[in-house]
Amino acid sequence: MSIQFKSITELRAMLDAKSISASELTQESLQLAKKYKELNCFVTMNEELGAKNANSIDLDNKTTSKLSGIPLAQKDLFCTEGLRTTCSSKILSNFIPPYTATAVKKLEDAGSITVGKTNMDEFAMGSSNETSFFGNVHNPWKKGYVPGGSSGGSAAAVAAGIVPAATGTDTGGSIRQPAAHCGITGLKPTYGRISRWGMIAFASSLDQAGPLARTAEDCAILLNEMAGHDLKDTTSLDVTVPDYLEDLDKPINQLKIGIIKEFNLSELDSEVQSRFQDSKDLYEKLGAEFVEVSLPNISASVPTYYSIAPAECSSNLSRFDGVRFGHRAENTQDLNDLYIKSRSEGFGDEVKRRILIGTYALSAGYYDAYYKKAQQVRRLIKNDFDTVFETVDLLMTPTSPNTAFAFGSKGTQNPVELYLEDLFTISSNLAGLPAISIPHGQINSLPVGLQLIGNFLREDKLLNVAHIFQKNSDFHLAQPTMEDFS
Ligand code: GLN
Repeated sequence: MSIQFKSITELRAMLDAKSISASELTQESLQLAKKYKELNCFVTMNEELGAKNANSIDLDNKTTSKLSGIPLAQKDLFCTEGLRTTCSSKILSNFIPPYTATAVKKLEDAGSITVGKTNMDEFAMGSSNETSFFGNVHNPWKKGYVPGGSSGGSAAAVAAGIVPAATGTDTGGSIRQPAAHCGITGLKPTYGRISRWGMIAFASSLDQAGPLARTAEDCAILLNEMAGHDLKDTTSLDVTVPDYLEDLDKPINQLKIGIIKEFNLSELDSEVQSRFQDSKDLYEKLGAEFVEVSLPNISASVPTYYSIAPAECSSNLSRFDGVRFGHRAENTQDLNDLYIKSRSEGFGDEVKRRILIGTYALSAGYYDAYYKKAQQVRRLIKNDFDTVFETVDLLMTPTSPNTAFAFGSKGTQNPVELYLEDLFTISSNLAGLPAISIPHGQINSLPVGLQLIGNFLREDKLLNVAHIFQKNSDFHLAQPTMEDFS
């Protein structure tokens, strides 16, 4: 029986029934990755170590966790000991970390098998996976179309059924937007819920790791392992982690969901609107109540994000200087020349653009006008959320204003076109709140995502409400034919 498109829950049953071993499962996953090489969703495979780890799970012969023996893919931004970690950048194309990121380590300690590192936008900057040094990732639903970004390789690997789940990171939408474009489920947890240690930093006050999977239930399985305080990350939250599987089936008849007035949905594509209306109807049928809410400052989210994120990135990326690790230019005159040439050769255009913007925004004389001002607006946005969560349990929006688009069709002349892709996702990063994207239909054979935003630390509620949706619909079961890629 093929393992392609199987969820963690289904693979767990196969492993428990001994109809497949962890080693066989890992080999099949690696084979599928080879078969669909053209998708370009992996940067590096973990064949040897993956096989070895799967074998020791088989020899151990006892299941200690739901993830024991389950193959997973890791975004190539998580450091993995002994396994190349590139952030899809030339500057790190030869970097082999001496340690493993806490989030990945916890998944591996639970017995999961890392089969490979997934392609992404360079340093997670992008919404289309077109800024990778290793080339574009194709959307499994349509060749030549973007999978979304920046966790595009992880989303494509799950959507193509190569692995049942993968890790991603979300600074402004990079888990939810690719999940939406690839027709899978992706959760961005509360800021600090999962340790950022060993995650190569883009914008430290916004970055958050999370799972991409076929179902909300599988996201809960991953989050159960990934979440928790870490002494190595002082921004990780020191609060107890609930069992996210426990309340998945809780009825939602008391639920109050807010629709954000400022996101003028009537301006969206009519098909996006009608999918949204259908999902609203389904939730109403299941007992939820909808109310319109106002977040007066939310329309400032995109410019606020694009002041803060580049500022933090310019500071974080200053460590890549060609001296300590990563790409080093040859034939340089002196130290300054070495820095300049190594960075000029090592970074791609989008990363350079952000470093320039960020350096400018942080420079003396402009700091108050841009970075400080953006932080003040960020606080106002967060206050708006605090106010609405006094009256509603969740907020609901489309994940993205549109479906996946063709390579090169957006942002090539004007990058702002691509920045607007994250209109609905960015505000929850600015406020540090959890949010999930679930598939809720298709437009012209391309998936569309529905976003639910939760209150601080209420991943349990998001997973519950997403799970109930998936129990009452079959959008999450749709599979791409993969005809273009075989
Ligand atoms: N698309 C956004 C950006 O380019 C968000 C990326 C992310 O979440 N990593 O900054």
